[in-house]
Amino acid sequence: MIKPHLLSYTSEEIASLLSDLKQPKFRAKQLVDWIFIKRAASWEEMRNIPKELRAQLSDKYTLRGLTPGEHKISADGLTEKWLFETEDQHGVEAVLIRDKKLSRRTVCISSSLGCRLGCVFCASAQGPFIRDLTAGEMVEEVAQVEALSGEGATNVVFMGTGEPFLNYDEVLLAARRINAADGFGIGARHITISTVGVIPGIELFAAEPEDFRLAVSLHAPNQAAREKIVPAAKKWELGRLLSVLRRYTRATRREVTFEYILIDGFNAHPNDAILLAENLSGIPCKINCIPYNPIPGSEWRPPEARTCREFVAILEDRGLRATLRAEKGSDISAACGQLRAYRLLKNSQEAKRHNDKGKK
Ligand code: SAH
Repeated sequence: MIKPHLLSYTSEEIASLLSDLKQPKFRAKQLVDWIFIKRAASWEEMRNIPKELRAQLSDKYTLRGLTPGEHKISADGLTEKWLFETEDQHGVEAVLIRDKKLSRRTVCISSSLGCRLGCVFCASAQGPFIRDLTAGEMVEEVAQVEALSGEGATNVVFMGTGEPFLNYDEVLLAARRINAADGFGIGARHITISTVGVIPGIELFAAEPEDFRLAVSLHAPNQAAREKIVPAAKKWELGRLLSVLRRYTRATRREVTFEYILIDGFNAHPNDAILLAENLSGIPCKINCIPYNPIPGSEWRPPEARTCREFVAILEDRGLRATLRAEKGSDISAACGQLRAYRLLKNSQEAKRHNDKGKK
């Protein structure tokens, strides 16, 4: 059983759990200070909290549930990736992406162990879905990356392994703790949740009071192509998705970021760009075009740089704001779920070698 994680608690909730333990009022401030300001990673550090109370709390609550494992740094030093192990011994990964000016430090976190969606281009689909992460585990990904890098995050994106809107309540709780003044204090506009297009999630998200940002992984200009690479598109089809997003932008006065992976010979033809621009007309948005980062076993390739630039230029000519995302961290397999996928692959190869040895 996984214990409740203190990083998912508000100050009031911490005060109330301490009052249940008959503790004086000032303890709440001390504990909140250790958890959210000093970011204590162990109970031993909390010297002004009586030992007996620390023991009581550690029996019931988790302070840190992730153990840092493999760590990689990209050749340019700007992107770093960590693989953590959960208490139930599964791999979860988080990435720190710095911009060239070093003014923006974005932490990309995972929302589940494995993924249910099975998008064909994505490394997270290689391997089974195990479980959703808890809010505390997601907040801890940010805390761990900040502690390990020694740098504070300016932005957080829910763009690692998993579909955030299929784990809606925990993801929102995590986003709130990351945002709250008595939590990590990162502005709501600097927290982005990326969805494959889970319509009920988008509808709930539209009614949330915070100014969190929404990104939608589109990856194809029409329903037929989208269904081929994003199985979830069969359930939440493109026409309905776009009309829900039109409503979302009107109701919230926020724009949407579309992500579009460019795959050679599949969705990167000039006609695809023209159709995409037609479909997105009237939706306040920005489009991030991302050259496909090949995953193990895939025969797909990114288009040539010229084709990618032309795709973006067509969107811009039609009045859309589009960018070609420089591949960040592809040399450290930082695309969604890749490090985790390699771990699974390595483990299964090791298991096979072990079995083969056993047979001899
Ligand atoms: N389920 C959510 C969150 C996962 S993030 C969603 O679908 O949005 C998914 C993002 O990871 C994609 O939009 C894309 O930007 C990136 N991604 C995944 N696999 C990739 C690959 N092989 N190459 C490049 N980008 C990839």
